Amino acid sequence: MKRYYCEFCQCSFPDNKTNRQRHMEGGNHQLNRRLHYDSFKDPAQLIEEYCAKPPCRRFFTQGQCPYSLQCRYSHVSFDPTGRPIYPHELKELLDAIARPASPTKEKVKVERVRLPRGWRLRDLPPSLIPPKRPYDLRDVATWGE
Ligand SMILES: [Zn+2]
Ligand SMILES: [Zn+2]
Repeated sequence: MKRYYCEFCQCSFPDNKTNRQRHMEGGNHQLNRRLHYDSFKDPAQLIEEYCAKPPCRRFFTQGQCPYSLQCRYSHVSFDPTGRPIYPHELKELLDAIARPASPTKEKVKVERVRLPRGWRLRDLPPSLIPPKRPYDLRDVATWGE
């Protein structure tokens, strides 16, 4: 049977209308697609756009929001000195951008995360300091500790 290969998710499944529709509507697929397109953006611009959204009431009252990056509202909070604290999904996105593009794509420019103008690495809260390479992917939960 023919299989459908989703480039965004790098997975395949038996190709029929139901499967395809279910896949396209899945949150995982939408996030991967979003990550894909966002990876062409400048991280500084991405952060700016993200911070420009109005604050998410659900995130700030309940401490979490199921919409994650898909949320129309911002999950960025600010510490007492006014520095932004990014939600983990935004950090993951920035990290995904920083990671070299997959080798199957030809000649994709490798972009590193750049801090907004005037920021220094040592000014970042510990949770935002990039982990040392090579990344230990088995241990993502401890990043930033
Ligand atoms: Zn997909
Ligand atoms: Zn939200």
